[in-house]
Amino acid sequence: MQVLEESGKSDEVPQPIRGIKGAPDKGPRNVMLDRQNPDILSPPASDHGTLPNLKFSFSMAHNRLQDGGWARQVTQRELPAATTIAGVNMCLKPGGIRELHWHKEAEWAYMLSGSARLSGVDQNGQNFLDDVGPGDMWNFPAGIPHSIQGLEHGCEFLLAFDNGNFSEDSTFLISDFFNCIPKEVLAKNFGVAESDFSNLPTDVDRTRYIFQGEVPGPLSSDKVANPLGERSFSYHISDLPAIKTSGGTARIIDSTRFPAASTIAAAIVEVEPGGMREIHWHPNNEEWQYYIEGTARMTVFAAEHNARTFDFSPGDVGLVPFAYGHYVENTSEVPLRYLEIFKSPRFQDVSLNQWMALIPPELVRQHLNLSNNLIRALQKVKQPVVK
Ligand code: MN
Ligand code: MN
Repeated sequence: MQVLEESGKSDEVPQPIRGIKGAPDKGPRNVMLDRQNPDILSPPASDHGTLPNLKFSFSMAHNRLQDGGWARQVTQRELPAATTIAGVNMCLKPGGIRELHWHKEAEWAYMLSGSARLSGVDQNGQNFLDDVGPGDMWNFPAGIPHSIQGLEHGCEFLLAFDNGNFSEDSTFLISDFFNCIPKEVLAKNFGVAESDFSNLPTDVDRTRYIFQGEVPGPLSSDKVANPLGERSFSYHISDLPAIKTSGGTARIIDSTRFPAASTIAAAIVEVEPGGMREIHWHPNNEEWQYYIEGTARMTVFAAEHNARTFDFSPGDVGLVPFAYGHYVENTSEVPLRYLEIFKSPRFQDVSLNQWMALIPPELVRQHLNLSNNLIRALQKVKQPVVK
């Protein structure tokens, strides 16, 4: 115990001690959570004041288990600060189908592993069918009907919707729709007999949602000829250039490159061990983050002396309120990979370093009493990831 009190940094049991401040936590305590959140247990001295919670893990989100896979969501109900984006983490088994459906929100997606076949039809009668693999993205605008099906190895992906109050449990499902229309009306609509609708799904909730189907054949064999033509709701990661800098890479995907994603913009960020997403903020909207690989810490600056530091692990969601300053530092020995997602047609960020480099040095110097060394080190070209 004496050693722990002195260091506060034992690998065995972390203690809420920083220098001469703090004292050992003798319990009760959840040591596994403390290990994942060292900057909450023992915050840096620069943290101050009251901030809302800006972290929620999918590991703490209710999971909906179905025949064909599972789905869980982190929305404004789980993370009240997240008002513009809600996220869903979904897994489909080989052949598993996310039922034909639509919703009031736009759906942006990133494939985490495996592959899926997507279908969609737009308001002009143009159709879409494509296969997506790891790193690929799609975007179905609000109201556009679509489906997702796991291919031979199944898949897992992250969905982002452009409303924090979205609920994955309240989408418009085709089976629900059929069960909510009088059968004689269905018969009239399709020009067939009522008896043609006698075998509609009658499961507990009268819907399929995620159900087990059969793995479809090759994409070319599944295409439906359409005189009105095809359109695309997907974007393949192989077509997306990377901004390479000293500490890693950033890939920006927004409506300038991917027109279907007219309301959601994102950055796919990779930070090498020892590297950091530079200090910056966003002039357009709040940032919703999804951590994929490695661990990270982020300090969020809220003005009026207020700042708080959070730690993140794979599967965690982070949130930066609109215009709050922040950085994201890789705290692991492996590359850190995460998504920055925004409700916006464009990705936009303001770099602290670039700002200071592009105004008169004398003006900067008078504010912060900075050395000539620092003034010389300022970078006129934005470096999204540094080391
Ligand atoms: Mn959907
Ligand atoms: Mn950011």
